[in-house]
Amino acid sequence: MGSKGHWDYGIFWREGINHIREQISGQEWIMWFNNIEYISSNELSITVSVPSSFYRDQVKQRYLKLIETTLFEISGHKLTIEFIIKKRPSQEDERLRSKSADLSSENTQNGKTPRFSKESIESANLKTAKSKDFNAISLWRQKSGLKADYNFDQYVIGDNNSLAVNAAHAISRNPGKAYNPYLIYGGVGLGKTHLIQAIGNASYERDSSLKVVYVTAETFTNEFIRAIKDEKNYIFKNKYRTIDILLIDDIHFLQAKDGTQEELFHTFNALYNASKQMIFTCDRPVSELKQLRDRLKNRFEQGLNVDLQPPNFETRFAILKQKVEQKSVDISDNVLELICKNITTNVRDLEAALLRLIAYAELVNKEVTLEIAQQQLKETFSTQKQGKISVEHVQRIVSDYFNISTSDLKGKRRNKAIVLPRQIAMYIIRTLTEYSTTEIGLEFGGRDHTTVMHAYQRVESRMKTDSTLEPTIRSLIRSIQDQK
Ligand code: ADP
Ligand code: MG
Repeated sequence: MGSKGHWDYGIFWREGINHIREQISGQEWIMWFNNIEYISSNELSITVSVPSSFYRDQVKQRYLKLIETTLFEISGHKLTIEFIIKKRPSQEDERLRSKSADLSSENTQNGKTPRFSKESIESANLKTAKSKDFNAISLWRQKSGLKADYNFDQYVIGDNNSLAVNAAHAISRNPGKAYNPYLIYGGVGLGKTHLIQAIGNASYERDSSLKVVYVTAETFTNEFIRAIKDEKNYIFKNKYRTIDILLIDDIHFLQAKDGTQEELFHTFNALYNASKQMIFTCDRPVSELKQLRDRLKNRFEQGLNVDLQPPNFETRFAILKQKVEQKSVDISDNVLELICKNITTNVRDLEAALLRLIAYAELVNKEVTLEIAQQQLKETFSTQKQGKISVEHVQRIVSDYFNISTSDLKGKRRNKAIVLPRQIAMYIIRTLTEYSTTEIGLEFGGRDHTTVMHAYQRVESRMKTDSTLEPTIRSLIRSIQDQK
């Protein structure tokens, strides 16, 4: 990698992105820059790699100007940036790579005792290691509580989850160091369980000496209660305090369970002090858990807390497309689009609709036409519609929040105190619903669709400069969804 001779601008690239790091928020940094890799350069340009075309487009749109001017300031050359797409190595590659790294460092590194897959590490022969390894991995999976399918390869990245996924990758590369604890929150079916399990799977595939344990908060609670009942407290403590990566799903379940909260608090401290990684999920922001002790809340909040939002149309489509390819079934893009248009709230429902069509197609042994799909999913679609967000609903919540009247929000007045809330309302409607810009314009006193587009762009660009805006919008979106 890198390039020959005097056109190696690698050093300027590194210097440049360090400058940029100081100018943008930590979150933006993790989201967009963590995954850009310098590849090579020539007299006129620098080539970098990104993991997908989605990334490339986002980085270009958001930061290309900033990158180019920064590089110009540092190098004195007008350099253009070329992007190439470099997919993350597949799990198999990764596994083999980390395996060979393990093997080569085996003689020098005696400090670590492999806990689960002894054979796989001790074997010096990669080829024979592979089949033994397979057994070791399935044994390990049983113990860890992880599902093999919940991996990064099968997790589609979109606007709604890229920050969470990036942080997840960073953690699996560097458990206990990058972000500790890490907490992912969001509504049902948005991919929390899949994502934390992916961290567990990837970490183990990188380093098979790690002890990874996944439990739901419910299982954790039950185990704890049983341990007390059987007077085997010490076994429970011993299990949970000697883990390298602890994944606890759905911590909202711990509300009002004071004893378990207390135990988790001590487990947390023990693991934290030993720099062990902890990852949690929750169905809402921790601050909104009413029956959780403050000291545990503080622990959860002291690391990185990131939310998952419902996926937009493109991401929903990408998810279905992936599932269809995985199962090698033949369902047309038209049908997939129909599902994505009608099921907007969560990924689980999206998958369920697809599975239903696949099952039907197999049963009657017929191609799924648009009509058949429409017919089969009629009920699913109509329950979705009932939950749909209306323009008035968004207008009401946004005007309440800013303490202005909805008629002002929709009206013609142009003073500052009204214009921003109006733009935010348009932005949110455009983000959360399928209304076209023309339809939205009509709901705002008959404005033109270009006004709506302009409002959307204004809010987007303002979010980059005003760091308070994004949290405001997120919390508005949450109230809109909660009060639906
Ligand atoms: P949650 O724990 O938030 O309720 P899950 O992780 O159980 O959600 O996800 C529900 C289903 O949707 C799972 O089958 C999961 O594999 C799938 N899923 C969620 N997000 C994605 C994604 N980004 N890409 C692919 N599949 C996803
Ligand atoms: Mg879950």
